[in-house]
Amino acid sequence: MDYEKTAEILFPDVRETPEYYEERYPARILPQGARVTRLGPSPTGFVHLGNLYVAFANERLAHQSGGVFFLRIEDTDDKREVPGAAEAVIEALDHYGVRFDEGVTLAGESGAYGPYRQSLRGDIYRCFAKRLVASGRAYPCFLTGAELDAVRAEQEAGKLTPGLYGRWAAHRALSFEEVRRRVAAGEPHVIRLRAQDDAGAHFTVEDGIRGALSLPQNSMDIVLLKTNGMPTYHLAHVVDDHLMRTTHVIRGEEWLSSLPVHIELFQALGLDPPVYCHTAVLMKQEGETRRKLSKRKDPESSLAYYRAEGYHPRAVREYLLTILNSNFEEWRAENPEADADAFAFTTDKMSRSGILFDADKLNDVSKEVLLGIPAAELAAFLADWAEETGRPEAASLKGDMRYLARILDIGRHDANPRKDLAYGAQILAFIGYFYDETVRAEDAWPENVPRADVPRLLGGYLEGYRHGDDRTAWFERIRALAEANGYAAKPKDFKKNPGLYKGHVGDVSAVIRIALMGRKNSPDLWEIQQILGEARTRARIAAAATRA
Ligand code: GLU
Repeated sequence: MDYEKTAEILFPDVRETPEYYEERYPARILPQGARVTRLGPSPTGFVHLGNLYVAFANERLAHQSGGVFFLRIEDTDDKREVPGAAEAVIEALDHYGVRFDEGVTLAGESGAYGPYRQSLRGDIYRCFAKRLVASGRAYPCFLTGAELDAVRAEQEAGKLTPGLYGRWAAHRALSFEEVRRRVAAGEPHVIRLRAQDDAGAHFTVEDGIRGALSLPQNSMDIVLLKTNGMPTYHLAHVVDDHLMRTTHVIRGEEWLSSLPVHIELFQALGLDPPVYCHTAVLMKQEGETRRKLSKRKDPESSLAYYRAEGYHPRAVREYLLTILNSNFEEWRAENPEADADAFAFTTDKMSRSGILFDADKLNDVSKEVLLGIPAAELAAFLADWAEETGRPEAASLKGDMRYLARILDIGRHDANPRKDLAYGAQILAFIGYFYDETVRAEDAWPENVPRADVPRLLGGYLEGYRHGDDRTAWFERIRALAEANGYAAKPKDFKKNPGLYKGHVGDVSAVIRIALMGRKNSPDLWEIQQILGEARTRARIAAAATRA
């Protein structure tokens, strides 16, 4: 056949050979066992939570082994590209501590295996496509859109497998003369793989997560180069992962079905494939059933959601580690203080079937993580987040960082510490009563306290209030106030003789609590007053007394 001549007329401008690129991008010099991994996001403007999951896995695999982790932007599909999206991906990943050793960065590219944007690698793909044509493993296909539509319609009508294969792959065997004529006439064409269909044959491949897989051999003449000369993902990533000397590819399950194509492409080029590791899909429980976490239906599928809600990046990372490796939680229980990087991550402890994404579990993990962050640092995180997301509370928070830190620190050093802070939006709702702008009367006055008693109790409390009292002295005053107004100084006195009293000291402190914070449940009242400060405490009691 005239494969070489065909290659020449299709790619007259390609002067380099694959061997040239082999030399230009030599094998990396790395310690034994070092892994080279990458992340290859497409700049569509949407970063899925699953992308971060995969990023962490790739990052760990490389860095744990003394290898290299790089970022390649897979931007060969102009239709999907959103301007600025590559930068947004980098920024989003950086927020969660995902650091690359080489590849596309905000300041340009770094590394010796670039360019790392696929849109800048057209010559390289064309060179490898030319080699495939020259060796008979690829061919030009001039089928028009209308012809392809007709194929599809016929296949649909006959309930046949869609795609170009067998007799549908009509341009597989065009003569050299025919190709020359069509190229000379300027007919648009794609370059297709000439699949080596062994009708029904299976082959075995070792997946880094799933173990040995028996897969059907590829039978489709898939597109390698589009009419505009741009490569498809299939060709581009095969060429790139080879030339960038990638050893392991951890990627989403959605790529498993095209693995036979990818393996065939490596074989056609005479190259060894990397170890492919296909992760399971993130699922969500809905009633009795589980379904895929959907970009369209579930806001929590987007990485942006966690930032908007004010999740601390460390919490999201910790949670993802719990679903990344089945033994992470056990390790964490034994190493509560350790940096998560000390955990030995392995691909074979990754889930092979659907991974349940559980928002409640994320919140529990987050509460635990936040407990380990010093109050001042947590305060800075919260205030910055409030400012970044344009929350109206931002100014008040930033206005007094010490105040905020003390609020966040309440009850965190107790033997049984409070664990109720989970994420920004929730924390703000939770601590809103510390700020005059957001304090709201949420609970009504206690029902058993006659309404006329409320201003009297509050007035008496204000009169006797000494901000310097310690907890005991302070409570003694409340007891006295209770007694003076017909309430038992101790709940047990009231229980013994309920007829003698209107209520007990607990009712009196409930009134004070509601006056101060608008709610009947709150952490320790004395401590809250100490944080609110004397002026704010007095002002709130006085205001409530006049309101009641
Ligand atoms: N560009 C592909 C995507 O965004 C990357 C897949 C891979 O990691 O190989 O889904």
